[in-house]
Amino acid sequence: MMFETWWLLALPLVFGLGWMAARFDVRQLISEQGALPRSYFKGLNFLLNEQPDQAIDAFIEVARLDPETTELHFALGALFRRRGETERAIRVHQNLATRPDLPEPEREHALYELGQDFLRAGLLDRAEESLRRLMSGPYAASAKRVLLELYEVEKEWQKAIDAARELQALENKDYRLQIAQFCCELAQDALQRKRPEDAVKWLNQAVQENPANVRAPILLGDVAAAAGNARAALGHWLGIERQDASFLPLVAERVVKAYAGLGEQGVALDWLRGLLKGSLAAELLDVAFKTELDQNGPEAATRLMREQLRRQPTLLALTRYFEAQAASMAPAGAMAGNGSEADTGETVEGDKTKEVTAIRDLLQLRTRNLARYTCRECGFRARLFYWQCPGCNRWETYAPRRSEALG
Ligand SMILES: [Zn+2]
Repeated sequence: MMFETWWLLALPLVFGLGWMAARFDVRQLISEQGALPRSYFKGLNFLLNEQPDQAIDAFIEVARLDPETTELHFALGALFRRRGETERAIRVHQNLATRPDLPEPEREHALYELGQDFLRAGLLDRAEESLRRLMSGPYAASAKRVLLELYEVEKEWQKAIDAARELQALENKDYRLQIAQFCCELAQDALQRKRPEDAVKWLNQAVQENPANVRAPILLGDVAAAAGNARAALGHWLGIERQDASFLPLVAERVVKAYAGLGEQGVALDWLRGLLKGSLAAELLDVAFKTELDQNGPEAATRLMREQLRRQPTLLALTRYFEAQAASMAPAGAMAGNGSEADTGETVEGDKTKEVTAIRDLLQLRTRNLARYTCRECGFRARLFYWQCPGCNRWETYAPRRSEALG
């Protein structure tokens, strides 16, 4: 009871204090408004009337009269960049960066923002120029991070490696995963330029940098295969199982091709059939289906898919099952198409073929865009596997398995 009485007494007091605080704020605001130059209100008015260019002119005028308004400019610049109006953001930040009276930390801040504006505007040379002027001081690490992003866009992988190493020292953060990927990018460039020795050099460096990197052994296998050494290539690709077996589906087609080149198709098929029994079944389904179909025909492929459906019923396996069935019925289908009379055995067979092809077509239509890789950082979905997400530009964010979800 005692407590409640006190509370009732305290309530008017709290309201009274709130009222006084509000009055105080309003008075302070009015006195501050008096001190602000007219251009400030002019600028605000332009901004509210969606005349941003006139607003910038007015605010630049404010800055000339009152050098204390830099915060306003940074806010305005950030707003323009966020809205994608990079040209306006550049104008605001450039005006700040070139002001002779600006203290050094704020000038550096302006250069940093300017670098990001140029990057967003695709003016990469100018972005690099701005950011390179910030190699020491409080913005050094942030500038280097944006530079790293820039080198990745420009595909300047050697510069990216250097920047990542510097960042590693500056921030005490691990960049080895990225550095190994940059080495792989350089190796891929070297492969395209037909310089396998350089590629191998970069790939070995990638492994050294990040022993868990799976892309390097995949590419080392490609180098060996290109040199005609299928056995060595298989060694690299199959060795991935020891690192992370979930990446095996990425090399399945390569493995099948290499075994075929050695005349050992049967070994490839046994390998695939073995993997189909495990957790990688959904990922390897297509390769296994195609290999079985090519080697042993549609009946064998039908059998394989039937077994697979019993183990793990998926829409993809069902689609492949009906594809194999339709393929094994193709001759009967051709006969039915020739307009046979009713009530003959051929027509019954023909009807069944039509049914199977109709189911196959429907399933193919439904599953065409079904299996997709999904970025675990931003959720970007892609038909192809990417080492760097095209959505958020992060590295190794795609699991090598495709999700079978509609959408
Ligand atoms: Zn992403």
